[in-house]
Amino acid sequence: MLEIRILADPDEDDGSGRTVEVRLIARPRPDEDPLEDSRLFAAGDAERIVAFVAELLERHAAALPAPRLECCRRCDRALDPEVEGEGRRPFVCRSCQAAARGPGPARPGSTGEGVEVHFLGTGDAFGSGGKRQAAVFVRALGSRLGLLLDAGPGCHAALRAEGLTSDDVGAVMLSHFHGDHYGGVPFLELDAMRSGRTEPLRVIAPPGAPERLATLRECLYRDLPIRFEEEITEALPGETIGLPAALGDGTARALAARHQPGAWAFSWKLELGGRTVVYSGDTGLSDELISESAAADLLIHECTSLEALPGHTSHRELEEAASRITARRVLLVHTGEDVLGAAGLAFERAHDGLRVVV
Ligand SMILES: [Zn+2]
Ligand SMILES: [Zn+2]
Repeated sequence: MLEIRILADPDEDDGSGRTVEVRLIARPRPDEDPLEDSRLFAAGDAERIVAFVAELLERHAAALPAPRLECCRRCDRALDPEVEGEGRRPFVCRSCQAAARGPGPARPGSTGEGVEVHFLGTGDAFGSGGKRQAAVFVRALGSRLGLLLDAGPGCHAALRAEGLTSDDVGAVMLSHFHGDHYGGVPFLELDAMRSGRTEPLRVIAPPGAPERLATLRECLYRDLPIRFEEEITEALPGETIGLPAALGDGTARALAARHQPGAWAFSWKLELGGRTVVYSGDTGLSDELISESAAADLLIHECTSLEALPGHTSHRELEEAASRITARRVLLVHTGEDVLGAAGLAFERAHDGLRVVV
């Protein structure tokens, strides 16, 4: 600890307030007596005061706090986040990001029977068209548990409205930390507490998920005791993660979304029940997403507006990219008022309560 104070000196002050004391107090270690150093100056002698402060800093450099370096989320090495972390917080170094793009768990074969995709919330952040916020339930046919792509506020009620409950959810995949995509997680937890859930809940999300979810829970239901196992996996772009066995053999691959500068945001590519389902989350039009969804059984893509909107995909952009989009079926979500009111769209809009099997 090092503290430098510039204060009027009552003993030397001649009453005109023209004398000041520059005093340094340094405590290199908590268990040591502090170092003290001081000198008196005429109040107007700024040049000599600045020079003395510089001299103090140099002389007592050992007592200065070490510069705070952020540590990589994965390997715990302290590195410069501006260089290594591409400006995203929490910081993950480039080598860990490259390692995450490795092969990952083996992809399942195509022996499955298909998946049901239940659209619980297909609206944008503003409640356009009276639609619920982001949540899509995906379950391999024959599996007891499914997964939730995003968990917008009210998703627990949306599950019930569609004949499901939080007990049917084995994993929650979050695209990013905007409220309309993850604000419903504490309510899922609350609902699971009430039902006496014993099944583990897996949350797979961008880096920072443990803190973001803990803060949200603390705000909404302080001291909510989670009495079931909740495992949070922080994914990185390009990483393929194995899904819990109770969901059927499946994997989820995180794709970097183009949404918020400086923040993590993913699209998700699911291989489940022998099918490929790609979910854009919130993103600007992404060539990677288009190529990763080539020949997918279903592409669930955001379409927030008719015309360009930063960090989102417009209908015009989708229309222009239509010849490159080769997914077998495309359904639009996160649809704003103008998209909902438009006729003759290039792709089909999903609506709350829509259930499709692919
Ligand atoms: Zn959104
Ligand atoms: Zn967003």
